[in-house]
Amino acid sequence: MNLNIGIDIGGTNIGAGLLDEDLNIIYRIEIPTNKDRGYDFVKSQIISIIEGMRSKASKLNQKIDSIGIGLPGIVDIEGNNVIYNANLNWNNVPLGKNLRHRFDIPINIENDATIAGIAESALGVMKGYSNSVFITLGTGVGGGIIINHKVYTGSHGLGSEIGHMIVGENFYDCNCGNNGCLETFISSTAVRRYVINEIEHGFINTSILKNVNSIEEIDTKLIFECAELGDELSNKAVNRMAKYLAIGIANIINIIDPDIIAIGGGVAKAGDFFLDRVKDLLPRYILFKELDFGEIKLAKLGNDAGIIGAAMLKEYK
Ligand SMILES: [Zn+2]
Repeated sequence: MNLNIGIDIGGTNIGAGLLDEDLNIIYRIEIPTNKDRGYDFVKSQIISIIEGMRSKASKLNQKIDSIGIGLPGIVDIEGNNVIYNANLNWNNVPLGKNLRHRFDIPINIENDATIAGIAESALGVMKGYSNSVFITLGTGVGGGIIINHKVYTGSHGLGSEIGHMIVGENFYDCNCGNNGCLETFISSTAVRRYVINEIEHGFINTSILKNVNSIEEIDTKLIFECAELGDELSNKAVNRMAKYLAIGIANIINIIDPDIIAIGGGVAKAGDFFLDRVKDLLPRYILFKELDFGEIKLAKLGNDAGIIGAAMLKEYK
């Protein structure tokens, strides 16, 4: 039996797991990222994690087949350099190259949303489908595209940036510098910003304000709770979010036509209440209405998706 290592590098913690062939995590490590200490320090922590996992495997008389790493950023097509990682302030660091120099084990690195998509495809709601798209809604919006059971990131590593598909004009610019990115309409940051902007422009007759001491305390969870109880401003915000997610999904369907699109991330916790609105709006944006289109479902994997997907990365390359 061979083992695979999955490493999930976040802004706060690095989680890693040693997985058996049935995708059970037989050994795990979680340590603080300590990103303020810079790339060389974080890299040395990743090296010690791999060494720890390797000695664990050799104690079990087993061999490590591959190492997969997920991180929030863009990786070049060879998986040598992390071109950009906003959370860690990494610009063009040679993580893949450094690790390959050190370990004689196949190493793959990929964007964390793509990794979460792989986990959903291996064990979650996208399991069994050859073409699937994963969209994660959190403080930002990420995506993973799987075609014929392989991840698709384009010819240069730039593909599957679903959050930066431009879908309209918005009242504020995206972190990437453009205006109108999907992320600025459907992330939790976007919904919160929209509600605060409406309140600042006079929409003060809302139950949201009865639940907070200052507008700084408004969060997406509260907006969704108030929407379910019938609050007008909250419903305006949720409906706007549902509309733009439907537009984003329709664009994906019109270009890729996958078997299934799964929605994950914190905002997806709102569940069917939100998803039903998206599904109601979706048909109006689909080009060929007489044909069937893919299912839209909520993702089902939780916190371990980053580790599991990373450990599966080699299979999906
Ligand atoms: Zn953008």
